Amino acid sequence: MSEPPSTGQTEAGQTEGTDPLRDPWRAAMRHALEEAARAPRTGDVPVGAVVLGPDGAVLGRGRNEREATGDPTAHAEVVAIREAARAVGEWRLSGCTLVVTLEPCTMCAGTIVLSRLERVVYGAVDEKAGAVGSLWDVVRDRRLNHRPEVISGVLARECSALLTSFFRTPRRTS
Ligand SMILES: [Zn+2]
Repeated sequence: MSEPPSTGQTEAGQTEGTDPLRDPWRAAMRHALEEAARAPRTGDVPVGAVVLGPDGAVLGRGRNEREATGDPTAHAEVVAIREAARAVGEWRLSGCTLVVTLEPCTMCAGTIVLSRLERVVYGAVDEKAGAVGSLWDVVRDRRLNHRPEVISGVLARECSALLTSFFRTPRRTS
């Protein structure tokens, strides 16, 4: 992405402990935020993700590392999903949940569907490139057999703030 995502997200249940849909995912989202916060060291946009197993154990984690690796597919979600698949020992991540700080793009939404994740939880909305409800809704396309559950807006303010501060900080551009 070349521009900061829009942060026009209204987060339901902004008071801690009052949102039964989102509150259970806050701890995992904080974990994803910690991953995201490491990305700017390599000039990467701060997006972080974790994959949780059915029991809640962290199976994979990732941050956006396109700049660090020169790999256009090295989005946080893909990095975390690959690590989780290695941990599980197969490509199917049935029963698993991806938690990511920013709404996934088309590539990552496709990867979510292909890996049979049960659920995707994200923080900030990406109105410019989001493919899980904003520009597209790839994962809930009714033509697909497998459609994961989607929970959006978990710690959305924190997730957006990290991105906003990254894009506001002057940095070297090539
Ligand atoms: Zn992506």
